[in-house]
Amino acid sequence: MSSTPAIAANAKGVRAPHTIRMADGDNVAIVANEGGLDAGTVLASGLRLVDRVPQGHKVALAPIGAGDAVVRYGIAIGYAAEAIAAGRWVHERLLKMPAARSLEGLPVATIKPPSPAPLAGYTFEGFRNADGSVGTRNILAITTTVQCVAGVVEHAVARIKAELLPRFPNVDDVVGLEHGYGCGVAIDAPDAQIPIRTLRNISKNPNFGGEIMVVSLGCEKLQPERLLPPGSFEIRDERGEPDAGEGLDVVCLQDDAHVGFASMIDSIMASARRHLERLDARRRETVPASALVVGVQCGGSDAFSGATANPAVGVCTDLLVRAGATVMFSEVTEVRDGIDQLTARAATPEVAAAMVREMAWYDAYLGKGGADRSANTTPGNKKGGLANIVEKAMGSIVKSGSAPIVGVLGPGERLRDKGLTSGLVYAATPASDFICGTLQLAAGMNVHVFTTGRGTPYGLAEAPVVKVATTSGLARRWHDLMDVNAGTIADGEATIEETGWALFRRLLEVASGERTCAERIGLHNALVLFNPAPVT
Ligand code: CA
Repeated sequence: MSSTPAIAANAKGVRAPHTIRMADGDNVAIVANEGGLDAGTVLASGLRLVDRVPQGHKVALAPIGAGDAVVRYGIAIGYAAEAIAAGRWVHERLLKMPAARSLEGLPVATIKPPSPAPLAGYTFEGFRNADGSVGTRNILAITTTVQCVAGVVEHAVARIKAELLPRFPNVDDVVGLEHGYGCGVAIDAPDAQIPIRTLRNISKNPNFGGEIMVVSLGCEKLQPERLLPPGSFEIRDERGEPDAGEGLDVVCLQDDAHVGFASMIDSIMASARRHLERLDARRRETVPASALVVGVQCGGSDAFSGATANPAVGVCTDLLVRAGATVMFSEVTEVRDGIDQLTARAATPEVAAAMVREMAWYDAYLGKGGADRSANTTPGNKKGGLANIVEKAMGSIVKSGSAPIVGVLGPGERLRDKGLTSGLVYAATPASDFICGTLQLAAGMNVHVFTTGRGTPYGLAEAPVVKVATTSGLARRWHDLMDVNAGTIADGEATIEETGWALFRRLLEVASGERTCAERIGLHNALVLFNPAPVT
C-alpha cells in the first residue's frame, strides 16, 4: 500500500490532500481526508481533481477507457461504463461489476507460505474447561428450545441477576440464549440441521464453563433430547469427572408441577443456583495465547475497512496463528469474489474442496431466493465509497492475514468436533453481523473482533467483542463505543503492523477480563439463527 503524500497538516491544522492506493498497478486511489476533497484540489503527484471526491471514494489516477478495468487491490473491481478522465470521481455508477469467479479450475493449495517463527510467551488469564477449551468469561447461559419460553426466561434472568448473581462474585453474567426457532418450522428438512446444531453448539461455548441448563415449553418440535441428545454433551461433577448419573438439566414449563407463573420462575432459579455454585468455584488461571479462539468479521464497512482496520486485523490474525491460537474468518458473500486466493492458500486439496463446496452451497442458496452475491452491499457501504461486492470482498478478505487455511466449517459446526484447535479456519456463514456472530459462537469463539467504518454499536452477551474503527473520525465521534482506532493508519500516525500488534495485545487484555466498550455500557445484540430450511 502506498499513501501519498506523507501526511502533513498546515498551520491551521488543515491536512494536505491525502490519497491511499492499495497496490502498485491500481488506477484508482481513495481520498483519505475527512470531508473529502474539492474539485480543483491538486494532489502531490500533480493530478488535479476534476470532481469533488467524498472521503473514502475513489479518484481516477490515470485516464480509464470505456470498458477498461478499474483496478484496486491489484484486481479488476469493475469495468468503466464510460471513459473516465484522470482526476474524476469513480463512483459506483461508473463501474460495471465483473461476473462471479467460476468455481471450476481454481488454483488448489498452490501457495505455500514460509512458516513464520512461532510466537511464544504470550498468555492471558482464562477459565480452563474440562474439555480443554478456555473461557474468557464465566457466564451462566440458559439454553432455550423454543421462542415460546423467551418471555419467561427473560423475566427469570432479570430475577437471577438481581437476587442470585451478587452471591456468586466469580460469575460474570447470566444470559438467556433466546432465538426464534424451535417450533413452526420444517424440522425434518435437510437444512434444519443448521439451526439445530447451531443452538446445540452455542450451549457448549467455552465461555459457559461446560454448564448446560435448558428451559423448554413441552410441546415444541425441538424437544430437549433432540437439541442435546445423550452423548452430545457431558455433565461433569465437582471434581471435573464425567458424571454418568446426571442427565440433561431441563425445566419444562408445561410440567404438571408448575402451577402459575411464579412456580416456573422458582424452578428456573433453583436450577440456576446449582449451576452458579459450580461456576463460582472457578478461577482465572494463566493460559497460553494458543487458547484463544477468535472470530473476525466486519460490519458497516466503508472504503477504509480494506485500507486500515481489516489489514490490521490481518496482521493480528497472523500473530494469533503464530501464537498457536485459532482464528476464524467467515462471511461467504464477502470472500466469494476472492475464492481463487483462498483455495490457493488452502493447506491441503481437501480444505480447498471444502471451501468450494461451501461457496457452491451458498450460490445455490442465494439463487433459490432469486439473488446473488451483489445483494450484499448496503446504501451505507456505497456512501462510504464501496462501489460493489468485489471491492468490498477484496477489503474483507485481508482480515484473514497470510497464514495457510487449515480447516473449513459449515454453518453452525463446532471447531473441536472437527479436531481444529489451532490455525486459520474458514467458517462459512452469512455476512449478516448477528448471524455471523451467532455461528462463530457455535463454532467455539471465545473472543470476537469486529471492524466497522460506518459505525455500529454491535456487541454480544456471550463473548466480548473488540470493535475496531476504520477512521479516526468514527473513533472520535464514537469514543466510548470503539475499542481500537485503526484510522491512525490513514492519518499516517501508525503503521498497519503497529496497529495489528496493538489489537493482539488488546485481545489478550480483554480475554483476561478487561471489559470492552460494549460490555462497559451493557450493549449487546440478539442471537440470530441461520435457518435456510422452510417454516410451516
Ligand atoms: Ca458482517
